[in-house]
Amino acid sequence: MNGSNSDFVPPQLRDLCEPLADGDNPFGDCVADDGNNTWSCRVKCSCGETDTFTIRMGNSSLDGWVSGKFGGDQRTDIQCEDCGLAIPFFDDGLHGYNAVVCDDRRLLPAEYRERNASLLKDFTCDCGNRTFSVFVLVRYDCGDLEGIPISQIGDSYGSFYAVARCSSCQKMESIADAETA
Ligand SMILES: [Zn+2]
Ligand SMILES: [Zn+2]
Repeated sequence: MNGSNSDFVPPQLRDLCEPLADGDNPFGDCVADDGNNTWSCRVKCSCGETDTFTIRMGNSSLDGWVSGKFGGDQRTDIQCEDCGLAIPFFDDGLHGYNAVVCDDRRLLPAEYRERNASLLKDFTCDCGNRTFSVFVLVRYDCGDLEGIPISQIGDSYGSFYAVARCSSCQKMESIADAETA
């Protein structure tokens, strides 16, 4: 990696994360932290809360969903129920290597954000609870990043994976899973 390590943060999560606690691997066996190229965090709201996020999700299987020419097939928004902060958490049409570094996002239809926003569905745990902790794992595995503007380094990752942990029963569910390069 070039740049300072602090550049390697998905921009929409900058200042909204804390390191995973020692011994707490919310990703289980299915997603390995394979070292140097991996960045992971627990989302922490600017108000300090970590387990008060409500989640809205959608993908291209929904009627009326608008995709891009490349990507634009899944979106997850989160919001802190305590202070109301809304975070545009992940959208494979807008975030990641292909969308930003390759600029595939320029090929999104004009109504992309607004139309899909209206289709997102509230995520509810099987136990009925609707507040979660959110954990992210991103892989900066796209090889040589020489020449990429510093403003795009944070988005130069090849995959984005996130899980939510129910604040009531602790059940884990995947809430984002995308190849972004
Ligand atoms: Zn908050
Ligand atoms: Zn639950």
